[in-house]
Amino acid sequence: MARILHHGAVNGVTGSCHQLFDASGNSVLIDCGLFQGSEKSGREADPLPIEFPIEQVKALVVTHCHIDHVGRIPYLLAAGFKAPIYATRATARLLPLVIEDALKVGVTRDESLISKVIKLLKRLLVTVEYGKWVAIPGFGATGVRFQVAGHILGSAYVELKLPDGKVVFSGDLGAPYSPLLPAPKAPYRADCLVIESTYGDRLHEARRTRSRNLQKIIKHCLTDAGTILIPAFSIGRTQELLYEIEHIIHREGGDWHNLDVIVDSPLAAEFTQHYQELRDLWDAEARRRVSSGRHPLSFEQLITVNSHVEHIRLVQYLKRSGRPAIVIAASGMCAGGRIVN
Ligand SMILES: [Zn+2]
Repeated sequence: MARILHHGAVNGVTGSCHQLFDASGNSVLIDCGLFQGSEKSGREADPLPIEFPIEQVKALVVTHCHIDHVGRIPYLLAAGFKAPIYATRATARLLPLVIEDALKVGVTRDESLISKVIKLLKRLLVTVEYGKWVAIPGFGATGVRFQVAGHILGSAYVELKLPDGKVVFSGDLGAPYSPLLPAPKAPYRADCLVIESTYGDRLHEARRTRSRNLQKIIKHCLTDAGTILIPAFSIGRTQELLYEIEHIIHREGGDWHNLDVIVDSPLAAEFTQHYQELRDLWDAEARRRVSSGRHPLSFEQLITVNSHVEHIRLVQYLKRSGRPAIVIAASGMCAGGRIVN
């Protein structure tokens, strides 16, 4: 059966990088992620260089563009990787932004180096539509196919057809009925399944309960003109939250229109823009809202903060104005970023 090496995502939950071999020793990588949060100790921590030979690696297949699945791509490129990088349309579009931001924040301020990396990355990217089998030259598989994973925009689980069976890599899967994105459909068959789970020991609250809790908290904030601070990943959670908040404001009307909703992260604001432009990938409910004249991700009360100066100004404004506000700030697991400043 399939031979697979796991570089990362073994001792911790982040840093996925799987290597799948064919019979002649050639291989493909599925994701190339970076360790995050408390699993590394500060910026100077070991950046996890690519510690395996890459000459026979024929491709990189990217399930989605969260940093714990793509963060080591610059190190892969630095190691001389020149094979194609397969990704869905949305992932191919978001990935260069994610990598550029990761380099700026954690690695280098050298603009020309960053632009070199991004240029190379864009050249290697091969866009693949969901549901289509694509051949990987030089690798002994009939093909690779991306299927909707419902986790973030562009996310996929991937299927690889080898002569002796089908291997499926789950990537990160979204919960069914999650907002904005179509729910994943289970693969028809798998002879070998590599499944990833971050919060595998928790049951997700039903979406309706979550939305009702959010509404309760917002109501409280409206009554005492307070500020709610919500930490959220720039890609995925931020847009889901905006989508739910827009719906609550739309449903409740009245006072609720006075609420300021602030996205306090330039990167999250940029991703939200891309989410809007790629709305053909939204689920039916979200598209219905758009065709009824609503703007689920760019509603009237939405304010985006694009720089540190604006951030400081915003904090002062909130102190002074006493207006009710929701602030969505970067950082998903509450371990770093603006939420701690
Ligand atoms: Zn993810």
